[in-house]
Amino acid sequence: MIHFNVPPATGDELVYLEQAIQSGKICGDGDFTRKCNSWMERRFHAQKVLLTTSGTTALDMAMILCGLQPGDEVILPSFTFSSTATAAVLVGAKLVFVDVRPDTMNIDETRIEQAITDRTRVIVAMHYAGVACEMDTIMDIARRHNLKVVEDAAQAVMATYKGRALGTIGDFGCYSFHETKNLSMGEGGALVINNSAYNEQAEILREKGTNRAKFFRGQVDKYTWVDFGDSYLPSELNAAYLWAQLQKADEINDDRMRSWEIYRRELEPLAQAGKVELPVVPQGCVHNAHMFYLKCRDLEERTALIAYMKEQGIQLVFHYIPLHSSPAGWKFGRFDGQDLYTTVESDRLVRLPMYYGLRPEDIEEVVHHLYAFYGVAR
Ligand SMILES: *Cc1c(COP(=O)(O)O)cnc(C)c1O
Repeated sequence: MIHFNVPPATGDELVYLEQAIQSGKICGDGDFTRKCNSWMERRFHAQKVLLTTSGTTALDMAMILCGLQPGDEVILPSFTFSSTATAAVLVGAKLVFVDVRPDTMNIDETRIEQAITDRTRVIVAMHYAGVACEMDTIMDIARRHNLKVVEDAAQAVMATYKGRALGTIGDFGCYSFHETKNLSMGEGGALVINNSAYNEQAEILREKGTNRAKFFRGQVDKYTWVDFGDSYLPSELNAAYLWAQLQKADEINDDRMRSWEIYRRELEPLAQAGKVELPVVPQGCVHNAHMFYLKCRDLEERTALIAYMKEQGIQLVFHYIPLHSSPAGWKFGRFDGQDLYTTVESDRLVRLPMYYGLRPEDIEEVVHHLYAFYGVAR
């Protein structure tokens, strides 16, 4: 059986977990949390990074920090995970869905401006498959209309746009370390804050509304409840697991990139034969091999392919049901402009097995059965 995903483990996780337990502190914001935060700050040239309990809660924090009021509007793609949208719903914002580009499946930057109204406050750029949205254009639109930009970089840790780490370009960036992501802590994420004016409010929000972070730094002599807050601190146990992954972040990334390149090389002839389409990575974008997907002819063919591969012991998956055609998306938002690509393209997209440690012989088996399904000789 070739699974679609296997959670990453480098072998050092137990060592750090043991250390966390021995330290006598397993709640949040201990040594491992601090080490993870500063590793990301250095590596991604980020002003400030705070570990969170998930990518979803990092998005929640970003939306709260954007200061959204009920009735404000948030522009986002419909082709995304529910978390991108629920964060906006949490603060009472209305969702305005925009179509995606068929090449990258990212929000179509040329359709954003026409969706802006006098209630628009935020644009969410979700970097699908770790391939960057067209950030220069998006940042320019945001500047001209005085909007904030939140990067949903859940899939994009270690990926860059014109040399800059994804997550560090907009006002806020949100990472996920869920077990299905490139680097993991089981459940977890991080908020990247790119404007220091938000640092203090973010720390308060994350620490149940208290100024405890300031207290620990010796900046106040007792801590107290100062504002609205919630609990977004992961435990040191999760941070210890992530620390093992960050130590090997390049090895994990290189391994995935190798697998991605094999898929691309071996499937190129199938694409040339007109049977499938392969992912596109625009110039200036360095991706992180978060996923390898194909586009089939249509939904019917995709359904048949998934069933066929399952019989061969290979697990393929698809996503997302476009949010604007889901019950909640319908309730909390509207689609601006025409749905030229979101529905048809998502219907035919299928993801191949991709994880750290995927063996070349397993890739070969997947490729072999893909050619067999399409009746193309190699
Ligand atoms: C995984 C993911 C999230 C949510 O991250 P969690 O850590 O699972 O909460 C949000 N947005 C996108 C695009 C994702 O892929």
